[in-house]
Amino acid sequence: MTDQRQIIDQTERRSAHNYNPLPLVLEKGEGIWVWDTDGNKYLDCLSAYSAVNQGHCHPKIIEAMIKQARKITLTSRAFHNDQMGIFLEKLCQMAKMDKALPMNTGAEAVETAIKAVRKWGYEIKGVEDNKAEIIVVRDNFHGRTMATVSMSSEPDYRKNFGPFMPGFKLIDYNDLTALAQAITPNTVALIMEPIQGEAGIIIPDEGYLTEARKICKQNEVLFVLDEIQTGLGRTGRLFCFQHEENATPDVLIVGKALSGGVYPVSAILASDKIMDVFTPGIHGSTFGGNPLGAAIGLAALQVIEDENLAERSQILGDYLMRKLQTIRTNKIIEIRGRGLFVGIELDKSLGGARSYCEALMKKGILCKETHEHVIRLAPPLVIENEHIDLIVDKIAEVLKD
Ligand SMILES: *Cc1c(COP(=O)(O)O)cnc(C)c1O
Repeated sequence: MTDQRQIIDQTERRSAHNYNPLPLVLEKGEGIWVWDTDGNKYLDCLSAYSAVNQGHCHPKIIEAMIKQARKITLTSRAFHNDQMGIFLEKLCQMAKMDKALPMNTGAEAVETAIKAVRKWGYEIKGVEDNKAEIIVVRDNFHGRTMATVSMSSEPDYRKNFGPFMPGFKLIDYNDLTALAQAITPNTVALIMEPIQGEAGIIIPDEGYLTEARKICKQNEVLFVLDEIQTGLGRTGRLFCFQHEENATPDVLIVGKALSGGVYPVSAILASDKIMDVFTPGIHGSTFGGNPLGAAIGLAALQVIEDENLAERSQILGDYLMRKLQTIRTNKIIEIRGRGLFVGIELDKSLGGARSYCEALMKKGILCKETHEHVIRLAPPLVIENEHIDLIVDKIAEVLKD
């Protein structure tokens, strides 16, 4: 038995303190379960921010990884490899898009989308040199690189990281009038999340995506959705935009669960016309599209399809919402969600959701507070009804008046 305290002390001594993890040390995972180094078992309700939708160490994804790792892992894009094509074929078919450009982390895919829409703006829309504007929405989360924090409105993400990248215009989320007013002849794209995850599971009004897309189309502005967290089954559809009619984006950004939680794989998807702005030498990544990542990504997509994870998310998410509504407490302000993407907003007078996440940890449920007052519930999509009963029982216990 290892002493968790000792491991945490060493980790804290030697690592930058850019996170504030719950005080436990995990060493094993299987499906919805994870174990700490003392052998205690927990139900994972975070799924590594929805990167493990398929469940921890899914045997088919691990098998694909090991099989590919024994053959070849990295070729660079200087040569073709025999895995990238079949992976992108599957991804494009599932997303009903023409082409994909593979990267590694989510933030890199967002950066790639920014480059794509700017280049499209100059070369196809005809925007004057260096004048391109991209509209983004308040409280967004698109990652931690300099471009993605330049898009952010969150003081914590930005403080003392300036100067920021110009060319972003911030408007309120869920405000179509603001969108219409923000567009100028230089606007090349609107980039946003269809549900704001890190902001606390903020769901826009019904029809918002459809209307936003329409306004973009009318003004020759690309409609770009960051589905890194909401995509691949999380909200009860394969992609969150499918909850609305005619809300298909021009550029779709995916990551997180595209890796099955195994190895970073991200991508942007778009039409031939947009993607063809990329020509040899103008963009790239040493690891993007590598055969190991591609084999893992293909297996991760296959599992989502074979196990009907989007449908499961819808059915079990509805069940979770119904059960949560039965909790009798005055600590909850609102419960909101789509599929197995649920936020429980606590009364601000309680001093934040952190202490409740710590109490849940002691009861074997792992959650992480988001935006201070919200408990996010996003378990792996392979979860069963009985486990949802367990989660709701424990939440009821920690929130009882
Ligand atoms: C997690 C996330 C990102 C960033 O992904 P990384 O892999 O951490 O770089 C971007 N956008 C959204 C919506 C996310 O949830």
